[in-house]
Amino acid sequence: MTKTINLANLSSIGIGGTADVFMIDSYDYPDSAYLIGAANNIIFGPDLPLLMKLSKTFDFIRIEDEKLIIGAATPSGKIVSFCKKNDIANFEFLSHLPGTLGGMLKMNAGLKEFEIFNHLIALRTKKGWLKKEKITHGYRTTGIQDVVFEAEFEIISGFDASKIKIFKQMRSNQPSDPSAGSAFKNPQNDFAGRLIETVGLKGYRIGGMAFSDVHANFLVNLGNGTFDEALALIQLAQQKVYQKEGLWLQNEVIIVDKRFMGENSPLKNSSI
Ligand SMILES: Cc1cc2nc3c(=O)[nH]c(=O)nc-3n(C[C@H](O)[C@H](O)[C@H](O)COP(=O)(O)OP(=O)(O)OC[C@H]3O[C@@H](n4cnc5c(N)ncnc54)[C@H](O)[C@@H]3O)c2cc1C
Repeated sequence: MTKTINLANLSSIGIGGTADVFMIDSYDYPDSAYLIGAANNIIFGPDLPLLMKLSKTFDFIRIEDEKLIIGAATPSGKIVSFCKKNDIANFEFLSHLPGTLGGMLKMNAGLKEFEIFNHLIALRTKKGWLKKEKITHGYRTTGIQDVVFEAEFEIISGFDASKIKIFKQMRSNQPSDPSAGSAFKNPQNDFAGRLIETVGLKGYRIGGMAFSDVHANFLVNLGNGTFDEALALIQLAQQKVYQKEGLWLQNEVIIVDKRFMGENSPLKNSSI
């Protein structure tokens, strides 16, 4: 079954047209389609591949045999509410991390050392249940290649409401304008925001898009921003940082447009 989705409304950065998206409601899906979650980390272009998305069938959370079982379409806010109600610890950081469980697992999302993989036991893909130990994972990265349908977490009691305040505080240096989170990955021992600032692009604007003047590594939509403007800023930052520092900034935001996906994407390496 497909569903027509307005991608500008879905995505946190507010860019995109409409698309007929294949809705996954069983453990079967077209291999060639690109999977999206709640699109908090995605910028959609005009040249889209076939998109697919988990349906509401995978939006659930329950306790079973003293484990927490969560469907991959479940939004972070729902997970926090459930944990608060059932006095479960270690998911408080999700209160300030937008996304669905599947999107968060794919990139091992987190805040500092609080990561979604920390209390994971296993996750389910078309290959069946895979134990955490079998899945490559590190800082904001995993080897997940298939659609995750659901996952199982250990339960430790003691929801800590005071942590929510700390996570809110950690967010205070981030812009409130629509964005897709960090634009670039931090290079080893450095910060993408610092590098963007060094080349004079903090607050730099093209049309409706800008590198935020609050935090340079956030590409923000100041109103009616377009895909082309976002891409022009990404490429400008990559080129300027490369010219000055000799290193190529790698995207953290995912560009979903056939021209910029895959290993040969012009965004992947320096060809200037
Ligand atoms: C304001 C803001 C602040 C943010 N701060 C942080 C932060 O502090 N830390 C952090 O880690 N992230 C942060 N992010 C990024 C975002 O919260 C995470 O990337 C989140 O995991 C995105 O989830 P999603 O459901 O929106 O995934 P999407 O953006 O839709 O997809 C992201 C990736 O996950 C894949 N994916 C989606 N669902 C599944 C699934 N079921 N199975 C397998 N793969 C799947 C997609 O194919 C895609 O590759 C921030 C974003 C915003 C907008």
